[in-house]
Amino acid sequence: MADENNRQLAASVLTAVNASGQHYGFGLPMIASENIISPMVRKATNSDLHGRYAEGLPGKRYYQGCDDFDDIESLGIKLAKQVFNANFVNIQSTSGTVSNIAALKALTKPGDKISAVSTADGGHISHARMGAVGLRGLDLHTYPWDEARMEPDVDAACAMIRDLEPKLALVGQSVFLFPTPLQEMADAAHEVGAKVMYDGAHVLGLIAGGQFQDPLREGADVMTGSSHKTFPGPQGGFMISDSDDEKFQRKLNSAIFPGTNSSYHLHHVAGKVVALAEFAEFGADYAADIITNAKAFGEAMAAEGFDVLAEERGYTASHQILTRHGGQDSGAGAKAAQLLEDAGIITNMNMLPGDTKALTPSGLRLGVQELTRVGMDVDEMGVVASLYARVLLNGEDPSSVKRDVQALKGEHQTVHYCFDQGPAYP
Ligand SMILES: *Cc1c(COP(=O)(O)O)cnc(C)c1O
Repeated sequence: MADENNRQLAASVLTAVNASGQHYGFGLPMIASENIISPMVRKATNSDLHGRYAEGLPGKRYYQGCDDFDDIESLGIKLAKQVFNANFVNIQSTSGTVSNIAALKALTKPGDKISAVSTADGGHISHARMGAVGLRGLDLHTYPWDEARMEPDVDAACAMIRDLEPKLALVGQSVFLFPTPLQEMADAAHEVGAKVMYDGAHVLGLIAGGQFQDPLREGADVMTGSSHKTFPGPQGGFMISDSDDEKFQRKLNSAIFPGTNSSYHLHHVAGKVVALAEFAEFGADYAADIITNAKAFGEAMAAEGFDVLAEERGYTASHQILTRHGGQDSGAGAKAAQLLEDAGIITNMNMLPGDTKALTPSGLRLGVQELTRVGMDVDEMGVVASLYARVLLNGEDPSSVKRDVQALKGEHQTVHYCFDQGPAYP
C-alpha cells in the first residue's frame, strides 16, 4: 500500500525547489561562483542522458549505445579547444574540484612539495590541506601575499618557488580580483623543473572571452576550471592544456577517467557543449560586459560610502568586488549578508586581509556575472549599490527595500548572451 506520507515528502521537495527559484528569480543573486543556464542548455541538461553511461573517450567506449553521445562529446572537445584556444581539453569532469583532484593526481605524487595561495588570501579549499592537496598527501607551502594589490607578492613568490623547488606551482583563487602575475611565477617554476597549474574556476568565462589573462600563453601547463561560474554552463568542470605532447595528454585524460570519475553526468556534458557553442557566439561580449559592470559596481558602492577594497587598482579587473563592513574578525560581513538576504539580495560573507576566522569575517565578496546575464547594465549597477546603501548604511527596514529589489528584478527575467533567449528562472 502506498504510504501517502512519502508522496507528500516528495511533493514538498518540489515545492521547495519552486520556492528557491522564486527566491533567486525575484532577488539579486550576487554570489560570485553562481550563474544561470540558457534555455537550450536547460533542455540538454534535463534530458534522458542524465541516466546514461559512457566511460572512456568518443569512439573508445566500454558501453554500447554511445553513438549519439560520441557525436556530442566530440563536438564539445572541438568547440572547447576553440573557445579556450588550447591543444587539449577534457570536458568530462563533474566539477572544478574534481578537475583539481585529477590534475593533482596527474602532476604530483604523495609527499611532493606544492606551492599555492593560502585559503586566508582567497585560495580555494581544494588547494588546502583539508581539501584535495591534503587528499593527495602533498607538502603545502603558501605564497607571500600582497594585500594592497590583492595578488601574490610576485618577487617574494618567485624567490619562494626557486628556493622551495616544488613539484607543482598552483596559482589562482576563489577571491580573484586581478590577474595573477603568472608569467614571472611560471618562469621561476619552470626554472626549477616544476609544472604550473592555473585554477581558473572563477574566471574561466572571462579568460575565454579574452578579458582577464591568457594563462596558457603565460606559462600554465594545465588550466582547470568550473563550467558554471563566469563560464555560464551547467555545473561541471574542465581540464585544459596547450601541450601537444600525447603522453602528457593521455596522463591528463586518464586522471579524469579512470582516475577520478566513472559516470561523468552525460546530461551535464551535453549542456556544456551547448554552452560552448553559445559562448563561441556571445562569450566575448558577455565577458566584456561583466567586467564593465563590476568596475561600475565597485565605483558606485564606493560613491555610496562603502569601503571597497583595492581602490588604487580600480577595485577589480574581474567579476568580483570585495567590501569591508567592520573590524577584523568582527563578523560584520556575516551580519551584512543576513540583512541583505532579508532584503532579497543574496551574497556571501568573506574573509578579508587580516581576518583569521571564516565564520566571523569582516567582508563580503560580490559578483555581477548573473545580473549581467539577465541584462543589467552600468545604470542598474548604480541602482543596486543604492539598495545596498539603504540596507547597510541608512538602516532602512530590509523588508521595505525588498519590494524595490523585487520590482527591479521583475524587469530582468530573461537570459541574455544565448540562442533562443527565454526565462532565466523557469
Ligand atoms: C569554485 C572553485 C573551485 C571548485 O569548483 P566546483 O566546481 O565548485 O567544485 C575550484 N577552485 C577555485 C579557485 C574555485 O573558486
